[in-house]
Amino acid sequence: MPLPAKPIASVSLDLDDKWTYMKTHGDPNWSEFPSYLSVVVPRVLDFLRKRNLKITFFIVGQDAALERNHAVLRSIADAGHEISNHSFHHEPWLHLYSEEDIRQEFASAEQAIAAATGQRPIGFRGPGFSVSETVIKVMISRGYQYDASTLPTFLGPLARAYYFFNAKLDPEEKKKRAKLFGTLADGLKPIKVYNWKTPSGSITEIPVTTIPIVRSPFHLSYLIYLQSFSPLLSAAYRNLAFAACKMARVNPSFLLHPLDFLGRDEAPELAFFPGMKMSAAEKMKLAETTFSALEESFTLVSMRDHAKS
Ligand SMILES: [Zn+2]
Repeated sequence: MPLPAKPIASVSLDLDDKWTYMKTHGDPNWSEFPSYLSVVVPRVLDFLRKRNLKITFFIVGQDAALERNHAVLRSIADAGHEISNHSFHHEPWLHLYSEEDIRQEFASAEQAIAAATGQRPIGFRGPGFSVSETVIKVMISRGYQYDASTLPTFLGPLARAYYFFNAKLDPEEKKKRAKLFGTLADGLKPIKVYNWKTPSGSITEIPVTTIPIVRSPFHLSYLIYLQSFSPLLSAAYRNLAFAACKMARVNPSFLLHPLDFLGRDEAPELAFFPGMKMSAAEKMKLAETTFSALEESFTLVSMRDHAKS
């Protein structure tokens, strides 16, 4: 008898380059766009190829606008992965922009991303999970099929406090970042895929999945953070997360970041990040075990296919 089909889960990677974190963190050296894309992209593509996986990469328009990144970004599309839009300027205060500026942000990002990769995005994730009804309205008018900008957790304000504690920002810069990583109310948003209805139409929303009921995150960066306290704790937490999703019939949307595949020596400017004490080799090992566990329970697909299902 054939085994029953496994439920699907989508996998995406926010291709935040080194400068995006330095910019949010208030490090003035971001303006030269320091990059680790040429190191991390081949590493991630190799990891995915070995596992025969096609996922979604959310690309920042500014990176696509730089000629020097074209070959590395094109290699992602050439490997058969979906290319999505992660804004042009990667400013987590996108929700504070005027409608005109949001339109400009989308137009510039789409143009640069399509020129670099040959794919026009049909999905969007706001930088730092910044989204608003106006952002959704613009997305709908531009023919997008899904948004992936919500992280339904109660831990956002805690993450923000940690971040402010470490960052060098003046009061004006802090004001812009007032909703960085979300508010307590975000913890009450749905965790399952749903139709986000607005006065200007509706769009499929694929939240970054958090553990049902408790609403705590389990993206790979979070598992790495737990691993730095205890490998046993990290593995138990991961298993709990996957089991809870299956029980609640939630199709997870599993999130990756470049720093999940980079060691401290490869991005010394980002040593303030939790999880940057681990070496690249240790992180690759954790990625392997995490994906093995994920694939035991779910069939892994891109965001585009998740939205279609
Ligand atoms: Zn980002």
